[in-house]
Amino acid sequence: MSHRLYIPGPITVSEDTFAAMNKGMIGHRSKDFVALYQSLQAGLQAIAGTSDPVYLSTSSSWGIMEGALRNVVAKKVLCCMNGAFSDKWFDVANRVGKPAGFLKFDWGKPVDPDAVRAELATGQYDAIAYIHSETSTGTLSPLAEIQAVVREHPEVISIVDTVSSFSAVPINKDANGVDVLITGSQKALALPPGLSLLGVSERARQRAATLEGRGYYFDFLEFQANHEKGMTPSTPAIALINGLKHQLEKISSEGLENRYARHRRLNDKVRAWGKSRGFTLFPDERYGTRGLNCFSNTKGVDLEAINKTLKSRFNLVIDGGYGKLKGKTFRVSNMGDETDATIDALITALDTVFGEFGA
Ligand SMILES: *Cc1c(COP(=O)(O)O)cnc(C)c1O
Repeated sequence: MSHRLYIPGPITVSEDTFAAMNKGMIGHRSKDFVALYQSLQAGLQAIAGTSDPVYLSTSSSWGIMEGALRNVVAKKVLCCMNGAFSDKWFDVANRVGKPAGFLKFDWGKPVDPDAVRAELATGQYDAIAYIHSETSTGTLSPLAEIQAVVREHPEVISIVDTVSSFSAVPINKDANGVDVLITGSQKALALPPGLSLLGVSERARQRAATLEGRGYYFDFLEFQANHEKGMTPSTPAIALINGLKHQLEKISSEGLENRYARHRRLNDKVRAWGKSRGFTLFPDERYGTRGLNCFSNTKGVDLEAINKTLKSRFNLVIDGGYGKLKGKTFRVSNMGDETDATIDALITALDTVFGEFGA
């Protein structure tokens, strides 16, 4: 029996989305597939705010994150670390054998553009990787301000992980000069896991063309050559792509601004509930992301027991903290297809169970 997922990914997938995925199979070199692939571009580009192609990768986001490093880093990549996922970037850069430097910020703090400015001024770097919405701590970094700094260095290619902000918060890829934008299906797009999306600038492709060791599966030039034919390099997750088409149609009929406003409104509701129960937001409120809330467990409640009760009585689960924040924070997602009604029901359940546990 499935239950509603208020963990920040994977999140609940709506029945209509599952139905749209169940369309029967088509060949990935068929005209039908080309039409499907091409029909997605405008919607994806609108969400990203780009005129660059958005490639579809059959992998989780880490696949293209690793791939991006292989495609654009020649000299050294600056990894901005402010949570579990961004800390991992540095580890992954080392594992793919790319020279990497880092800037560390306390978990819950955003990436500081001034620190980025000072580090890039050393002239060692030709790439930077950071996370827009650090899901482990619920922190949104100031994308436009960071990119303004990055753009002062034309040799630096930016790789930005928007896994938990894509379609929840505006990104404006081209206006902000983001070269490589990365996201995944199982967060705000409210699809099952297994598909990731990759927006790549011409500059980034030019860098890739000069680099050896790009491999095959995540090679930007392979993606581009196939993109021009309306295809992917290898057999893609066609069912997920049908689901993506459906979700993009929903996003387009809702309207992007309305979608951002809905995420903000629902996020505020959960935030207000947490405060009413005496919990503080883990990040500084000004940098709280909008697809989820990460609260400090200021009252030291037993999150595992609470989650067990939420699951058995209300058929839903929240997250009890990621990595070193396990037990110390809890996270509640409001990404994707959530509505005022579903979030109100969630809050009623949370209020009842947290109350019973003395919070
Ligand atoms: C979920 C998440 C990832 C990891 O994505 P996978 O699909 O598990 O590879 C990376 N970065 C951020 C910010 C995330 O939220």
